Amino acid sequence: MTMSTTAASLQSLTFDNRFVGELPADPQSENYRRQVTGACYSRVKPTSVAEPRLVSCSFEAAGLIDLTAEECTTELFAQIFAGNQLLPEMDPYAMCYGGHQFGNWAGQLGDGRAINLGEVINARGQRWILQLKGAGPTPYSRQADGLAVLRSSIREFLCSEAMHHLGIPTTRALSVITTGELVERDMFYDGRIKEEPGAVVCRMSPSFLRFGNYEILAARGETDLLQRLVDYTLRTDFPHLGGAGAQAYIDWFHQVCRTTAQLIVHWMRVGFVHGVMNTDNMSILGLTIDYGPYGWLEGYQSDWTPNTTDAHGRRYSYANQPQMGQWNLVQLANAIYPLIKDVKPLQEALSEYNRLFLDGWNDMMAAKIGLDSFVPHTDDRLIGELVDILQLTETDMTIFFRKLAEVDAESVSEAQEKVPAVLLEAYYSPEETSGDYCQRFFAWLRDYRLRLQSAGESEKRRRERMNGVNPKYVLRNYLAQMAIDKAEEGDNQLVGELLDLLKNPYDEQPDRQHFAAKRPEWARNRPGCSTLSCSS
Ligand code: AMP
Ligand code: MG
Repeated sequence: MTMSTTAASLQSLTFDNRFVGELPADPQSENYRRQVTGACYSRVKPTSVAEPRLVSCSFEAAGLIDLTAEECTTELFAQIFAGNQLLPEMDPYAMCYGGHQFGNWAGQLGDGRAINLGEVINARGQRWILQLKGAGPTPYSRQADGLAVLRSSIREFLCSEAMHHLGIPTTRALSVITTGELVERDMFYDGRIKEEPGAVVCRMSPSFLRFGNYEILAARGETDLLQRLVDYTLRTDFPHLGGAGAQAYIDWFHQVCRTTAQLIVHWMRVGFVHGVMNTDNMSILGLTIDYGPYGWLEGYQSDWTPNTTDAHGRRYSYANQPQMGQWNLVQLANAIYPLIKDVKPLQEALSEYNRLFLDGWNDMMAAKIGLDSFVPHTDDRLIGELVDILQLTETDMTIFFRKLAEVDAESVSEAQEKVPAVLLEAYYSPEETSGDYCQRFFAWLRDYRLRLQSAGESEKRRRERMNGVNPKYVLRNYLAQMAIDKAEEGDNQLVGELLDLLKNPYDEQPDRQHFAAKRPEWARNRPGCSTLSCSS
């Protein structure tokens, strides 16, 4: 019998609201915008909305809290996860955190439009915090409205689930629900205000703590509270580290460095660019969190960023992500220093991050080209040259690696006039692949063949390895936009279809090949497909 047939109903979910139970609350209970000191959160209720309507639900995410598919399509579900109704054991709150935004300390930020409903313990004893995003203002909303629009909510919903199925640590998404209300947005900050449909996403995570939760306490000199929060984190999310005290804090920081390095290796593997790697968007569990103006590399280009706000500095571009991960970890190290009072172990962990990232990158890139392990010197060159070649002409990253598996490596012995036919699909301007490009590419293919021969593995094994790490289907920027366009007209079918497609990103799915096609020309410069802002 599967878990879902014995599922608890919504009414009988088990809550254990540990965060609010063990950490100090803001004593002020009214919901107005303010600086909140001496506390980790403020109690706040979601704002009711006119007409909740389910757009889509992830049944896999629902299964994590033992809810059946039937339960997710009930009226009660829509009422709860739009913020209109609370279950008796829910105790909603917004968290206080700060953050470094684009390299500068920004002071208090906090859950400006996120409200945690409570912590569910599932039948396997796992903890899942339920969090609504876009359910109205909180004390941390600053100048903004606390709301979210359908377009960004669909993007967050689909990408969270897609990342999970790619095998990448992430917060999950249970549902996206329209509110029946309109929300004003100035999408490109140019004064063209539009009314857009409002929506609420329910996110799920074992913890929503961010680097910024610790930074705000350190910045305010609230060292006792900082220690309480760190002790809480260790007890709740890192129990294997065995307690508190300076050594446990150091071990914890090491682990955060490790999981962050692993996370960014994964992002690089699939061509994901987060877009806003501020310290308030860095999960203490090393999860991908806060899907805003993210994007997927289509043409492989190291300095690509989807975020228009970052178009000038390119701080959060694809190739900068590893370095920015470390920069953010330095901020976390500074924040927890008062509990450790010794720089050296923190520096060691930061160096370990570099080492781990580099080793992770090498192994990951080796696997992407089908090698069973990375051999220094030879493989450095092989991988480096490939990364350079990918940028000589606009080359679709996802298609290229998938198709490279189909190239018959054994038959590549001498240079030909044209790149292998199976690869042509990957190029946005195939006419640019003759001449010098072709020569350089064949030189690379020859080295590649020699390397494969020295490894002595079968072509079959090489292909399997490649297809296990190189997804066929990712949430291409234009696919998400097409689903949004339809949903804004009231047709949610494509949202559901993409959710389903992206459950098996490494499988061929013969009926759905069109979702693996390279970006069509109409999407090249269309907002939402190539450029995104933080307005959401
Ligand atoms: P982000 O860039 O989405 O990570 O958000 C940075 C900060 O702004 C966080 O504290 C968010 O909660 C807050 N924020 C973003 N959008 C809104 C909004 N519409 N209403 C209230 N707060 C928001
Ligand atoms: Mg954020």
